[in-house]
Amino acid sequence: MTEDEGLPFDPKMLDRMANVCIKFGLNLQHGQDLIITSTVESLPLVRRIVEEAYRAGAGVVTTLLSDEEISLAKYRYGNEESFDRAPEWIFKGMAEAFGNNTARLAISADNPMLLSEQDPEKVSRLGKAMSIASKPAMERITNFETNWNIVSYPGSKWAKQVFPKLSEEEAIRKLAEVIFSASRINGSDPISDLRAHHENLKKRQEWLNGYSFSSLHYTGPGTDLTIGLADGHAWKGGASMAKNGIICSPNIPTEEVFTTPHANRVDGFVKATKPLVHRGTIIEGIEVCFEKGKIVKASASKGEEVFLQLLDTDNGSRRLGEVALVPHSSPISQSGVLFYNTLYDENAACHIALGQCYSKCFIEDISSNPKAIENSGGNSSMIHVDWMIGSEELDIDGITREGEIVPIFRKGEWVEDISIP
Ligand code: ZN
Ligand code: ZN
Repeated sequence: MTEDEGLPFDPKMLDRMANVCIKFGLNLQHGQDLIITSTVESLPLVRRIVEEAYRAGAGVVTTLLSDEEISLAKYRYGNEESFDRAPEWIFKGMAEAFGNNTARLAISADNPMLLSEQDPEKVSRLGKAMSIASKPAMERITNFETNWNIVSYPGSKWAKQVFPKLSEEEAIRKLAEVIFSASRINGSDPISDLRAHHENLKKRQEWLNGYSFSSLHYTGPGTDLTIGLADGHAWKGGASMAKNGIICSPNIPTEEVFTTPHANRVDGFVKATKPLVHRGTIIEGIEVCFEKGKIVKASASKGEEVFLQLLDTDNGSRRLGEVALVPHSSPISQSGVLFYNTLYDENAACHIALGQCYSKCFIEDISSNPKAIENSGGNSSMIHVDWMIGSEELDIDGITREGEIVPIFRKGEWVEDISIP
């Protein structure tokens, strides 16, 4: 694309992002179909990605666009009954497509505060209806049946939320800068830079898998938590092979290695180190207490009601589905910015997630066997909500099945012998 699009940043960076997304993130194959979801505002990137996809020999590319005013119209004028329903058919269609080797791309640019002024009860009901309806499609993604990728675009409302003191134009420029550098597409050869980064993530995974820890012990201010790991768990991170045989890299950026905790073996207390933004509400000062895997006591200094509602979503929402390690020195963490966006905030700090586990995080492929996942300790829930517990004061030890204690993190960083430059 050559015409002047009036963007407050160098549009060539979008060409790079599109190239990295198709060639590295998705690794889209000749003849493969692709479904893209995005906001209307991200069209400058969507158009480039679609072009890049067809140049790479894509089959059918389908784009589904969302718009803020259209989303809000429902809250303003929609009838009561409509808040308990979602278009199931579209998610069934997506599930069918993913089952037939269609790749999936999401472009994240949303205004994190879009629903903050809306009736929380309606937000929660519609959120639940959407979770139920989208489950068939989501499961194909969490089971890693096809290659998928998520990248970001500097949306104007998002940018203003992250940099409230800057003008809109300045805020977009600044957010764009952070997105491009965190996504590691600034150098002269982004794809080889990304490959090198993913090699490092792989080395850390292999180190952790070599120990096959029985649990992790976290200590820090307000935190003394033991997280048992699922039986037969495997650490994952960075590029890996989807079940359709295609090696892809789901998140750009990514800094985490992660695995599945044991739903019944988490004990102690933990304090969040960053706010959690959930459905337009900022939840601050989260402190919870676990017993035998379940949160038995929870509080938050701000947004507590929304947090408690979230915990009561279903039987699995008080238990953990993910544990992830991210060094405090990660580029996103060093930017010192709160992004109000999971893709960025979860890559800034060690985190845990309430709810659904990743069924791919097991040594043996048990992802299509819910009973085996449950027996191994994998949690199941309609939600998967990440929140940050890492800081420069966090220490983590691994505990082997023989009871040996192995330092993993000291003061928020990988211990020396496994830290890779
Ligand atoms: Zn994670
Ligand atoms: Zn997560």
